[in-house]
Amino acid sequence: MKAEIIAVGTELLLGQILNSNAQYLSQELASIGIDVYFQTVVGDNVNRLSHAITVASERSDLLIFTGGLGPTQDDLTKDAVAAVLGRSLHIDRIAMDNVDRFFQGRGTPMTENNRRQALVIDGGTPLPNETGLAVGNAIAENGKFYVLLPGPPSEMKPMYEKQAKPWIMQHVLTHEEPLYSKMLKFAGIGESGLETKLLDLVENQSDPTVAPYAKESEVTIRISTKARTEREAMEKLDKLEAEIGSRLPNHLYASEDVPIEKTIVDMMTERGLTLSAAESCTGGLLMQSITSIPGSATVFLGGIVCYSNAMKEKLLNVPHELLEGDDAPGAVSAETAKVLAEQVRMIADTDFGLSITGVAGPGYSERKPVGLVYIGISRRGGDTAVYELNLKGNRDTIRLRSAKTVLYHLWK
Ligand code: ATP
Ligand code: MG
Repeated sequence: MKAEIIAVGTELLLGQILNSNAQYLSQELASIGIDVYFQTVVGDNVNRLSHAITVASERSDLLIFTGGLGPTQDDLTKDAVAAVLGRSLHIDRIAMDNVDRFFQGRGTPMTENNRRQALVIDGGTPLPNETGLAVGNAIAENGKFYVLLPGPPSEMKPMYEKQAKPWIMQHVLTHEEPLYSKMLKFAGIGESGLETKLLDLVENQSDPTVAPYAKESEVTIRISTKARTEREAMEKLDKLEAEIGSRLPNHLYASEDVPIEKTIVDMMTERGLTLSAAESCTGGLLMQSITSIPGSATVFLGGIVCYSNAMKEKLLNVPHELLEGDDAPGAVSAETAKVLAEQVRMIADTDFGLSITGVAGPGYSERKPVGLVYIGISRRGGDTAVYELNLKGNRDTIRLRSAKTVLYHLWK
């Protein structure tokens, strides 16, 4: 089953908007086991659109269109697909009622071109639009499948999810076993480090398949398999997950696509533990990531952004001698990270106090290299762990990795 996404719109070719529909649909199709072989972008021009449809019909089995279903002269997708298939268009009653109701509700008369939004191709299945006016369409012909979706993502996504996806499952995937996937999330290891450990699995993969992805400071692996039943699939996936986990103990933190801060919040909630943070070079990024998780309020009590040395002294009682003076360790030091973590934990009266102090760049600070970061984790009734990091990358990456690394060591 080869799929092709055809995004229609001159504004895409002009670079005025990003083809986010293609990204969304490619991800969605991959998740149900359909391989997208081509993504095409074509302008609002009936000849070029017809040409694109003809070419796509030859090389692909499932053609998914987005855009050009609206009321205006440049909305040509339905006309072009109908012409290539040698079919006519007719008004779909339900879609027309939807358009009529919309204009009655607004109290403005409907213009004639708005009837175009209710047109469907003869013999196709209308796909109702719950968030807009233009009706979608799904057509099967000679073993090929055509699905027409609107351009605005706010209309395209619900129509895909509720209408097109079930149609595809029923008509396109009837003879294939469904695909089941699991996302595995790793922390404290880079993509290449991970690949080295799993090289044989990635190279000799057949079933289940193993696909690594790297996002900003996060490494994800998707493992997938086709099976008749979910239970059969899960047995295979769980076995592979156990194998991967045994090769990377201390790195696999979740079996679903969640950030590590979510795992931390869940873990701390479960154990009834609390957190606070003191951040220098990350300026609150760590606190922002923790508090982005719903339910973090019972875990995260608060923190302090102590960007300057004065604030480190005043708010967190870091001794002046530690920060300044010829032989002082300085703000970016293991000593300062330790005091910051301990002080914020005591001030906030939490179970853990976290700290970050470092050189995010681009310039040097305290004659220390860019990427040198110290993080501290102080535990109530325990000692304080301090880690020295030597991070690579630009300012954003260094800051993000610093925050993620604290969370990683806290999880570990
Ligand atoms: P309308 O009824 O709004 O005219 P339509 O189905 O005719 O919808 P288009 O006219 O092609 O769709 O596009 C309408 C708007 O939808 C675009 O201006 C753009 O904002 C958005 N859009 C269209 N195609 C894409 C795409 N591939 N990715 C992201 N957004 C898109
Ligand atoms: Mg339009």
